[in-house]
Amino acid sequence: MAKRGLLERLKAGEVVIGDGGFVFELEKRGYVKAGPWTPEAVIEAPEAVKQLHREFLRAGSNVMQTFTFYASEDKLDNRGNEAATKYGVTNINKEACRIAREVADEGDALVAGGVCQTPAYLSSKGKDAVQAVLRKQIECFVEMKVDFMICEYFEHIEEMEWAIETCKEAKMPICSTMCIGPEGDMHGISAAECAVRMAKAGADVVGVNCHFGPYEIIETMKRMKQGLDDAGLNVFLMSQPLAYVTPDAKKQGFIDLPEFPFALEPRICTRWDIQKYAREAYKLGVRYIGGCCGFQPYHIRAITEELEPERGVKCKGSVKHGPWGQELALHTKPWVRKRANRKYWENLKPASGRPFCPSCSVPDEWGVTAGDELLKQHKEATTKEELEELAKKE
Ligand SMILES: [Zn+2]
Repeated sequence: MAKRGLLERLKAGEVVIGDGGFVFELEKRGYVKAGPWTPEAVIEAPEAVKQLHREFLRAGSNVMQTFTFYASEDKLDNRGNEAATKYGVTNINKEACRIAREVADEGDALVAGGVCQTPAYLSSKGKDAVQAVLRKQIECFVEMKVDFMICEYFEHIEEMEWAIETCKEAKMPICSTMCIGPEGDMHGISAAECAVRMAKAGADVVGVNCHFGPYEIIETMKRMKQGLDDAGLNVFLMSQPLAYVTPDAKKQGFIDLPEFPFALEPRICTRWDIQKYAREAYKLGVRYIGGCCGFQPYHIRAITEELEPERGVKCKGSVKHGPWGQELALHTKPWVRKRANRKYWENLKPASGRPFCPSCSVPDEWGVTAGDELLKQHKEATTKEELEELAKKE
């Protein structure tokens, strides 16, 4: 029997649960390099990619997003990475589709092809160059018959509009999420206007992903919803935040926090933080609810469990896990058994255990963005001299 499509589900008022970010999780597991964050693991370690898809499926994800983050040719070939030369951009994108489909068919999940921001845009190469690299990926998604497209992780609305325009050629439903916070995009365009422009460009589902934690993402979604309402535009809403708390993040999000990317652990959201996020997103009218970097399968499970009353869906990952810690009633220690209830976990203020650390940081805020020399795509590896030059920068 054919699976019901994304828009069919959303139009019926159902909540669609997304998955979590693959580059961050697979970097920790040893399959992705942290500098380029490109997805050649689909060729080098397909079983590792499949395993993560399976864990998200078991946690209740309704979407297997192809592991094609940063899989545009110009990104695969940036700063001495050479993944595109070694494996081929088409091979990487198609292999990601094959893996996602295999796991999606083990449950009731759809496959979404994913594209994101390109070095071509940051290098000011113009619309044709950006659309050419994106089109090369989208052709793979069409051939491999993904169910819909996600344009995600764009920090400039202009590039997002070009991406949506290119995706429209594929005649599939389009989700579009920008990696922006309440302050809007990197050119100072408000979140509300970004939402309106994504909808007008032809996206069926609009929202935000990555760069900010759940609380800032909810605030951004409120502004987007207001903008869409004011413009009389009726599209579905989607949010996929970080699983990190980022109250101190500025416009560039967690990327210029000093802890990025190897010391973010003290900021990890608890499962209860994510339950709160799922509830807030639902109340706001967001119906595609998922996560991005830092999200692990148990965070997605928290969304599934929080929305169990509305959806009537239990995931396999909940078999060993009762709502609000009820399984702690089986614990040997009485003070832990006492914690087998919602009130305890809902009201807990978890300590970080780091008495000499601040609770917030000061972001770098270099203000370097599209068009700046430091962001230009180049094939050659970063040189020692270039690194020394950066070390001198205050
Ligand atoms: Zn992310």
